[in-house]
Amino acid sequence: MERKKVKELLSDPVVGKEVLVKGWVRTRRGNKNISFISLNDGSTINNIQVVADMARFDELRLRDITTGACIAVTGELVESQGQGQSVEINASAIEVYGKCDADTYPLQKKGHSMEFLREHAHLRFRTNTFGAVFRIRHAMAFAIHKYFNDKGFFYLHTPIITGSDAEGAGEMFQVTTLEPGNPPRNEEGAIDYTQDFFGKQTNLTVSGQLEGELGALALGEIYTFGPTFRAENSNTPRHLAEFWMIEPEMAFYDLKDNMDLAEDFLKYLIRYALDNCSDDLKFLNSMIDKGLLERLNFVVSNEFVRLTYTEAVDILTSAEKKWEFPVGWGRDLQAEHERYLVEEHFKRPVILIDYPREIKAFYMKQNDDGKTVKAMDVLFPGIGEIIGGSQREEDYERLIGRIRELGLPEKDLWWYLETRKFGTAPHSGFGLGFERMILFMTGMSNIRDVIPFPRTPRNAEF
Ligand code: ATP
Ligand code: MN
Repeated sequence: MERKKVKELLSDPVVGKEVLVKGWVRTRRGNKNISFISLNDGSTINNIQVVADMARFDELRLRDITTGACIAVTGELVESQGQGQSVEINASAIEVYGKCDADTYPLQKKGHSMEFLREHAHLRFRTNTFGAVFRIRHAMAFAIHKYFNDKGFFYLHTPIITGSDAEGAGEMFQVTTLEPGNPPRNEEGAIDYTQDFFGKQTNLTVSGQLEGELGALALGEIYTFGPTFRAENSNTPRHLAEFWMIEPEMAFYDLKDNMDLAEDFLKYLIRYALDNCSDDLKFLNSMIDKGLLERLNFVVSNEFVRLTYTEAVDILTSAEKKWEFPVGWGRDLQAEHERYLVEEHFKRPVILIDYPREIKAFYMKQNDDGKTVKAMDVLFPGIGEIIGGSQREEDYERLIGRIRELGLPEKDLWWYLETRKFGTAPHSGFGLGFERMILFMTGMSNIRDVIPFPRTPRNAEF
């Protein structure tokens, strides 16, 4: 018989039909006459109830059906007698695939802390919370591809190992096959990277943007969606050393077009989750964050506030607040400032533009004021920065001028600079941190709990 998924059985139940389901036991209760098994197969947050009449089953066999055990159940789908479900399975046969020892199974009890579950990341998928989070994560990945594909953007695979260290977005992890204890050295005594695997020093990418721009300046509109790596020692609930980023780059978009795309894209993703992940969202709303659904609905139905960095600094300096980090024109905004603007002042998502050039990357287009660049950060409630982007500097002279001012390795960027020599075009793009989006979408509070196996300072288990 063909296996049916629990999701199918519950959404389209054919009462009276013989079915086969396979999954993991969530709970078993009952008495000496009857046993009720709550079974979950991961296809949905909802369990299917299996009823085992003890007259038909050998007590000894049922003994192995404990929380966490994996079983296959054959039986008739019938209308449920009890409360809480519309249909259940009247079992005629149960096969035990994998027993689960009640004394040593770590997820025996409900209400484990997030820390405990992180230490059991190999098993945490089996909890309702993590099942919901990772189904939503999948749905968001799918929705991202759908959004861009429907708009005619091309998915571009930018390299993960990069030979340029000029991306400037953060500290990098080096990639090498040289022997750590005994690397070859050149005459000056420095490590001789010409003997390394690629004949030069290489790192894991911190962003696919620069290569993404090359694609946009030929294909028109592209996006990347891949892993990025930052060796930043920031132990916060918003930073990972390995995270996924979505980076669209578009020819012929100015900063306003870029903002419009970012806002439309974020709202599309939220709407997609509301339409397609409602069971999981309802669960998270009741168990993790009581304000989740309200916040998601609020963000899709309200316009984001757009203002300049300078206006934001004015608001922050006149706010009656004790800041941990000082505020002042020219200083970068910290999470506390971003969250104040979003959560207390405007009470809605904010797009900040026109940042001081000194605190932003070399490739951002300079404004005519000589002080600011066409940067944009999208700030979200509970998260702070969720997107960073800009209109890119397309003028060769201005770009190289900035590279020299900052003392960046000009010769490593020859390929990037050539696009400004040969048919340059106004263009823009941004980066969305995938896990920050999932944090917002699920109401989870730590970024380590929205990626299956988090990589953070001093932690690479699993
Ligand atoms: P932050 O100031 O929060 O460290 P950033 O300015 O370094 O962010 P960008 O370089 O603009 O971020 O990267 C684009 C997006 O990638 C950010 O808006 C954020 O959503 C996400 N992001 C950046 N660093 C991390 C990280 N270490 N872990 C997870 N997501 C990140
Ligand atoms: Mn950062």
